[in-house]
Amino acid sequence: MSESSEFAEDLHRKILETEAGRDLPRCFACGTCSSGCPVHEQRPEFDPRKIIRSVLMGLESELFDSGVIWLCSTCYTCLERCPQEVGCAQIITELRNAAAADGRAPEAFRMQMEALRQFGRVYEIEDFDNRRRQKMGLAVLDSHANIEPLLTDEREGE
Ligand code: SF4
Ligand code: SF4
Repeated sequence: MSESSEFAEDLHRKILETEAGRDLPRCFACGTCSSGCPVHEQRPEFDPRKIIRSVLMGLESELFDSGVIWLCSTCYTCLERCPQEVGCAQIITELRNAAAADGRAPEAFRMQMEALRQFGRVYEIEDFDNRRRQKMGLAVLDSHANIEPLLTDEREGE
């Protein structure tokens, strides 16, 4: 078995083993998720129903390659409207996590993750931000927040 097909098979198994993945077989492809999805309305190539179908068929890698999973706004309308309570948004999050772990996240997301790791926020708090905060009567924030414990096993035992 090639390395890429091993990866695809392993990914498929892992997604189906998640809480949302276990519910996937309940999907009967009604398309309610897609018709209510605000992103699908603007970008028809992003189609939650097709994403669910692709996962059920073991085509997760193709979703990675198309980059379509990064368009979801995580508004959860799909879950609220799905008659079968399939966690489409959660499946997309699982796919994103797997893609990021495999180094396949888009550059913009990688930069945001790095900023989050360094500063505890998706951008660095600078003097300019703090001056504006003070004018609004808000507390001054540290430019760096130590979130390492949250990202590692150090949080265990806290
Ligand atoms: S709304 Fe639910 S059952 Fe219908 S296609 Fe979407 S995930 Fe499947
Ligand atoms: S959570 Fe994502 S897939 Fe679901 S409706 Fe919102 S944008 Fe669409």
